[in-house]
Amino acid sequence: MDRCNQKDGAMLSIVVPVYNEQLNIEKFYEEATKAMQSVGMNYEIIFVDDGSKDTTPLILSRLSQQDCHVRALILARNFGHQLAITCGMDHARGDAVITMDGDLQHPPAMIPDLVKRWREGYDVVQTVRKATDDSGFVKRQTSKWYYIILNAVSPVHITPGGSDFRLVDRRVLETFKLFREHDRFIRGIIGDIGYKQKTISFVAPKRFAGKSKFSMRKMLHFALDGIMAYSKIPLRISFYTGMVSGLLSIGLIVHALYCHIVGEAAPGWTTTMIVICMLGGLQLMFMGIMGEYIGRIFEEVKHRPLYWLRAELGQTGSTDSEEQKTR
Ligand code: UDP
Ligand code: MG
Repeated sequence: MDRCNQKDGAMLSIVVPVYNEQLNIEKFYEEATKAMQSVGMNYEIIFVDDGSKDTTPLILSRLSQQDCHVRALILARNFGHQLAITCGMDHARGDAVITMDGDLQHPPAMIPDLVKRWREGYDVVQTVRKATDDSGFVKRQTSKWYYIILNAVSPVHITPGGSDFRLVDRRVLETFKLFREHDRFIRGIIGDIGYKQKTISFVAPKRFAGKSKFSMRKMLHFALDGIMAYSKIPLRISFYTGMVSGLLSIGLIVHALYCHIVGEAAPGWTTTMIVICMLGGLQLMFMGIMGEYIGRIFEEVKHRPLYWLRAELGQTGSTDSEEQKTR
C-alpha cells in the first residue's frame, strides 16, 4: 500500500488477461504480490477482464479497491486472449511489462527470474514451455507439428512451445504498440520485433482451477492466424500446384484426343471421375486458402478498434491509452 505512490525507481506492470477465472484470481493475486515483494520494485497488476460472465469483474473491483497496485480493465465483451493482452499492454505504465495467464499455469514465482534477466540487459525475456502437466498426448503432438509447419512456411522463427508469458522492456512495448493488426499472433510479432532477446524454459503446472478456455475451434483459428500473419507461402503453394495440375490436364487432353483419333474407345468414366474429383477438390481447397487471406484483408480494411472498454477500475491516471484503444 505505502509504496503505491512511489515516484522513484523502476516500475513493473504485470498484465493478466482473465476470462471466467473467478476461482483463480485471488490465488493469482496473492502469489503475484508475494513475488513482487521479493523483487522489491514498484509495480502494478493490470487484470484485463475479457467479457467474463461469472463474478470475475466483482472480484476485480474489490481487489482494485483494497490494493492500489491493482488495476482492472473491463472489456465490453469477449475479444479473445490476444486482444485482452494487447489492451493490458496498451495501458501499462511500467518500465517493463510482464504478460501472463491468470490460471497459475504461468507461475508467478518465476517473476523474479524474468526481472533478473531484464536487469542483466535483455529487452525481451521469453519463456518456453518444456511440458504442460495437464496436456494430453494429442495436444502435445498437435502443438509440436504445428510449430514444425509454422517454422517451415514462415520467414520468422517462432520458438516451439513459446507462450505469452514474457517480459518486455518499455522500448519493445512502444514498438509493439505500433502493430495494430486484428488477427494477431503476439509471439510472432515479439519474435520479429528484434532487440536483445533471452529465452528461458519452464514446466507449466496444471491449471489451479477451472477449465481451459480454448476450444478446438479457437485453437485452429489461432493456429491459422499464426501461419497467415507471417507467411504468403500457402498462396504460393496453391499457385504452383495449380500450375502443375494445369500442365497435367494438358497432358490428359492430348492423351484423350490421341485415343479418340486412333479409335481406341476408352471407357472414360473412371478417368473423368478422377480428374473431376482431383481438380474440383484442389480448386475448392485453394479457393479456401485465398478466402482466408481475403477474409483477413476484409477485417483489417475496416479499421475497427481492436477492443473497447466498459470500465476502468483502480488507479486511473494519465496514460496515452485512450488513443491506443483505437488506431
Ligand atoms: N483468456 C482470455 N480470453 C479468452 C480465453 C482465455 O482472456 O477468450 C485468458 C484466460 O482467462 C487465461 C489465459 O487467457 O488467463 C489463458 O487461457 P487458458 O488457460 O484457457 O488457455 P490454455 O492455458 O488452456 O492454453
Ligand atoms: Mg491455461
